[in-house]
Amino acid sequence: MRYATLAVLSGLPQDPHGALGLPIYAVAAYGFATLEEGAERFATGEGYVYARQKDPTAKALEERLKALEGAMEAVALASGQAATFAALLALLRPGDEVVAAKGLFGQTLGLFGQVLAPLGVGVRYVEPEPDRVREVLTERTRAIFVETVANPALVVADLEGLASLAEERGIALVVDNTFGAAGALAKPFQWGGHVVVQSLTKWASGHGSVLGGAVLVRESAIWRNYPQFLERDARGQVPWEALGPRCYPERVRTLGLSLLGMSLSPFHAYLLFQGLETVALRVERMSETALRLAEALRDHPKVQRLRYPGLPQDPAYPLARKYLASGGPVLALDLGSQEAAGRFLRAIPLPKAANLGDARTLLVHPWTTTHSRLPEEGRLQAGVTPGLVRVSVGLEDPEDLLAWFQEGLAAV
Ligand SMILES: *Cc1c(COP(=O)(O)O)cnc(C)c1O
Repeated sequence: MRYATLAVLSGLPQDPHGALGLPIYAVAAYGFATLEEGAERFATGEGYVYARQKDPTAKALEERLKALEGAMEAVALASGQAATFAALLALLRPGDEVVAAKGLFGQTLGLFGQVLAPLGVGVRYVEPEPDRVREVLTERTRAIFVETVANPALVVADLEGLASLAEERGIALVVDNTFGAAGALAKPFQWGGHVVVQSLTKWASGHGSVLGGAVLVRESAIWRNYPQFLERDARGQVPWEALGPRCYPERVRTLGLSLLGMSLSPFHAYLLFQGLETVALRVERMSETALRLAEALRDHPKVQRLRYPGLPQDPAYPLARKYLASGGPVLALDLGSQEAAGRFLRAIPLPKAANLGDARTLLVHPWTTTHSRLPEEGRLQAGVTPGLVRVSVGLEDPEDLLAWFQEGLAAV
């Protein structure tokens, strides 16, 4: 089955009443009829016990995400941040290092700097290109971490090159595929990525109405190279021997859900499950509009520089053509100065917000918001200049958007 079919048919559980949709299990605990049944569920991990660990509504979402991304296993969590943290915590130990792309999402930088560094995990930032990454790999590097498309710089990672380097070194390539819109725009597993993390809050939800995240994993033997899967665990088993390639997602589930409690609410799981039914349609339409805006505004005298991976003139175009189904729903305009960006944003009657993937077009000035906590040098390194405005294109009529953008630019 192809994407559009899987988006509406996959993951639906068998329902005793024949419900043609996903029922919400607003339930914390699941009962056992007998002592033996309780013992059995605890011993095998089969069936439901307590919603912090496993819940039928989230399970349906996980099944749908697996189908859409081509994953072996999926774990749904409370947010994209929770997903990134759980994915890395399950991989890393004190003394380990990660090689990560420059220009990552701001809170991912915060996670490395403020949470993982005090736990003894080091990080080195480079361009997401195989040759640059190879130069800084050491004996202690246990993962490569990149975003499919880092924004607002709109840099596309060379996923295939990075995956083969990771495979050669026996370490995991972890891809934040939030921009890949649950596989509608990009599928990192096709190119050899080992782990996908993503924020479902963005295009998967599609309406800016709910938070959610997921860790997805493809089948691989890479986990044999990690000591935590070769040593006896709390249950007395050696995870790689007992579970094979499922040892890693099982650890994500244990740490992220059972022990840290970063569980997804069943109400949110329900909305995300529904959001996935239209994500491909929405992203396709948003990408068409984004291309239209990019073409119309690229040579505007008030625009110093416009970045859109779908424009043949854009530096990201060759990699975007290879890895993305289209140019995507995000573009960035550099208007030259903070003052110019301020005038533009004041004149344009669209919401200004630090979010992506909403049905409404959202504009943000990264210099003073999403990236304001970084030192100036760090902002410039992430491609954030004082005049930059990021646009997450929504579902409005393209003619209305174009007219508003022209109005905004006239005010600059
Ligand atoms: C939003 C975002 C996150 C974090 O997701 P939340 O759901 O907000 O926690 C992580 N990575 C990227 C690329 C994002 O855009």
